[in-house]
Amino acid sequence: IATANNSNTATNDVQQCIAVMTSGGDAPGMNANVRAIIRTAIHKNCKAYVIHEGYSGLVNGGDFIKEIHWSDVNGWLSDGGTNIGTARCMEFKEREGRLTACHNMINAGITALIVCGGDGSLTGADLFRAEWPSLIKELLDTGKITQDQFDKHQFLNICGTVGSIDNDMSSTDVTIGSYSSLDRICKAIDYIDATANSHQRAFVIEVMGRHCGWLALMAGIATSADYIFIPESPSKQSEWSEHMCKVISKHRERGKRKTIVIVAEGAIDSSLNPISCNDVKDILVEKLGLDTRVTTLGHVQRGGPAVAFDRYLATMQGVYAVDAVLNGNPDTPSPMIGISENKIIKRNLVDAVKLTKSVAEAINAKDFDKVMELRDTEFSEHLKYFKAINSADFKDPSLSSENHKNFAIINVGAPAGGMNSATYAFANYCLSRGHTPYAIYNGFSGLSRHESIRSLDWLEIENWNSLGGSEIGTNRDTPLETDIGLISYYLTKYKIDGLLIVGGFEALESLHQLENSRSSYPGLRIPMVLIPATISNNVPGTEYSLGSDTCLNQLVEYCDIISQSASATRNRCFVVEVQGGNCGYIATYAQLCAGAECSYVPEEGIDLKQLNLDIQTLKINFHNDNGRNKSGRILIKSELASKALTTDVIGDIISSESNGRFDSRTAIPGHVQQGGIPSPIDRTRATRLAIKAIEFMESNFDNISKAENEIGEFIRSPEADSTAAVLGIQKNNVLFTPVSKIWDHETHKENRMRKIIFWDEAREVADMLVGRVKV
Ligand code: ATP
Repeated sequence: IATANNSNTATNDVQQCIAVMTSGGDAPGMNANVRAIIRTAIHKNCKAYVIHEGYSGLVNGGDFIKEIHWSDVNGWLSDGGTNIGTARCMEFKEREGRLTACHNMINAGITALIVCGGDGSLTGADLFRAEWPSLIKELLDTGKITQDQFDKHQFLNICGTVGSIDNDMSSTDVTIGSYSSLDRICKAIDYIDATANSHQRAFVIEVMGRHCGWLALMAGIATSADYIFIPESPSKQSEWSEHMCKVISKHRERGKRKTIVIVAEGAIDSSLNPISCNDVKDILVEKLGLDTRVTTLGHVQRGGPAVAFDRYLATMQGVYAVDAVLNGNPDTPSPMIGISENKIIKRNLVDAVKLTKSVAEAINAKDFDKVMELRDTEFSEHLKYFKAINSADFKDPSLSSENHKNFAIINVGAPAGGMNSATYAFANYCLSRGHTPYAIYNGFSGLSRHESIRSLDWLEIENWNSLGGSEIGTNRDTPLETDIGLISYYLTKYKIDGLLIVGGFEALESLHQLENSRSSYPGLRIPMVLIPATISNNVPGTEYSLGSDTCLNQLVEYCDIISQSASATRNRCFVVEVQGGNCGYIATYAQLCAGAECSYVPEEGIDLKQLNLDIQTLKINFHNDNGRNKSGRILIKSELASKALTTDVIGDIISSESNGRFDSRTAIPGHVQQGGIPSPIDRTRATRLAIKAIEFMESNFDNISKAENEIGEFIRSPEADSTAAVLGIQKNNVLFTPVSKIWDHETHKENRMRKIIFWDEAREVADMLVGRVKV
């Protein structure tokens, strides 16, 4: 009990004195990063310091450098911006400024520095480290520090965590703040969409990104914009206006009432001339006669609380950064913490900065092929796909007409954010290739009972990207529960050459059934892909399911509101019940992203000793808070964590155990967790995965047709099995895995979830950062 969080402060035997600063432009998630660094440092028996106002705080010293304690960062997870301030500091760019900074750091006893900022800030940090030996020597020679101080501060350990809304840093897929910024942009464009549609207007929208078009590109995909301008992929001055007008007039001819063009702040043509929103507007007015307005989103893009993903990313990066400085030595290169797909990674900071700078150099040298090589795979894939689904013409000339196919999409299971985005991308990409996209309406029972299948029309789905739920309808019926023979019959009748299933565990079960029935039903001998989509994220074969991000955003927002209520009443905690079936993913990540006291999950059940310990910890925390805790206390419980210890029972136990010193309430967000408007992550990932699924189907006809012998029998083989696959994200890979392998080896059938849990680390971190004591 003594380790309840407020008293979790380093005592004797301090390992290191770790300071953290935020520098450059502010970004949502910076506070989550600082909180994680401070608490991890204290947890690891270090002293923690904050440097206020970036490098100028380091140069100014005094009160700008402060020791900070565990409870000082209560409630920071939900705060936007950076609570320790940030600045741009010219003095630090000069050696003199860095000498003063070095002196101030030594006087404060700081031995390691973690900088959360963009490439400029990280360049400064690395230079500081490289120069450190000469700086301390000069301080010793001029008598400003003692020999003792000199000996103790021989080496400066640094680490970078990348915070920047532009996502302009190489060697990491995403930077802290960029998805929150994208969220603000998409919400704004969703609102603009409605007015544009009402008046049949065109809107030219400027988004941030001076040297990087990531925000413009991802917003373009997520909001189904008609055209984008980004610095990485410019056209000739003589060509861009013509091409833009061709695409937009095609869209208008097909019946679209509105036009959205997104322009990155740093948009240029291939001769490096800037392209401004007004340039674009003038062309739309003059050449197409469109009633056109310009909207500059400006600093709204930096504002507000961080989305769940940024809280997760910032928190994990903070934990890894402390680990990196504790394990650093003069021979290890300065590290930078980033993420690749779903895996937190440590990269060489200098190499990452060099690579980032080389992007700007390649742009200046007009070597745009190199620019694309230097951007990560995810970026170039997204750009390729955006261009494909927004090409003016249907039918890709590189695909001959005999290769034009009929592909169908179906939703199975509960609705999840991103299902409609997948349908939108699927249909648009099919059309751009010359295929015919079909939708199967209302799941497998819709097909077998009502023959509800028809081709998708471009205009009909035009605004589906930003819609929640499932426009084509979804239910949990599997083929065997309906009529697998009829399903095969209709697939044959409509000459369906490939099937994309988007859904949760029932969708996996359905794919397994279809694949397993191929020998009896020739209509099922087609390539088939499952894109997991369920808020529970319980489908084996992937660490990410469409909808889980939207759900987490909803939960985090919900918990922020509840937490405010709990905090205002000073002596109340909330037990929040979350969905997730038998899977504790959502509960764990909600705990991590909302800073909840604990999460009870089905995989662990609720141990009475643990519950007792959690309540004792809660008592101590309420006592120590003394009414000053900025964030209210929340406990998260998965709906199926325990049969006996229901949410109400836990709430009652807490109330009665508190002896009147605090009370508890329960809160059940229920179906709110399925989300309203899908998050940008769910929309953009749905697009990328749907297009990858079509590419997979296109390239698997041979493998499946070879599985039939001369008399039409189906012979199973690894090649044939591989044509029915789950498309998932696993660590830093996007993978197609045969459903037979997943079903036979990776699925816990009774519990309807994956066998291997990948969120243990997130659980440990979530507990550690709230000082939870485990039995
Ligand atoms: P953003 O991506 O938001 O612009 P950034 O970290 O790249 O963030 P900068 O303004 O480039 O923002 O850098 C922030 C601060 O880092 C600068 O004001 C300066 O104090 C320090 N800094 C940047 N570059 C250097 C450098 N080459 N040497 C020393 N310090 C630097």
